[in-house]
Amino acid sequence: MTTATDCLFCRIASGAIPSTRVYESDDIVAFRDIDPKAPTHVLVIPREHIVSLDHLEPRHAELVGRMHLAAANIARDEGLDDGWRAVVNVGEGGGQTVFHLHLHLLGGRSLTWPPG
Ligand code: 5GP
Ligand code: ZN
Repeated sequence: MTTATDCLFCRIASGAIPSTRVYESDDIVAFRDIDPKAPTHVLVIPREHIVSLDHLEPRHAELVGRMHLAAANIARDEGLDDGWRAVVNVGEGGGQTVFHLHLHLLGGRSLTWPPG
């Protein structure tokens, strides 16, 4: 498992930094965003330190699929029956501020499209 001691989300995944977890498995952790942009705002991350979607390798294909399955299950648990959104910001220009891959799960309010 690749971890980076100076990475915020690696430290959240290991439990070194506390978070409100809503799901975890061998290779995935999901926790509530500290600054929520919607009533439900959960971040789904791999335990492995992957910088972004730009840094995926073919061996990550199933992991990324499991991240989406986890998000769908969490959305169901959160009662987001009317719909929800999955977002991955990639790189500084894409709005990424934490450089450990994470899928935003947003819901519980009306979501406009396109985003800003
Ligand atoms: P990005 O902008 O990289 O796509 O998203 C990073 C997200 O991480 C932001 O929504 C931000 O609020 C969240 N975040 C930053 N620091 C922390 C933290 O220490 N704990 C939690 N739970 N979320 C954080
Ligand atoms: Zn990391």
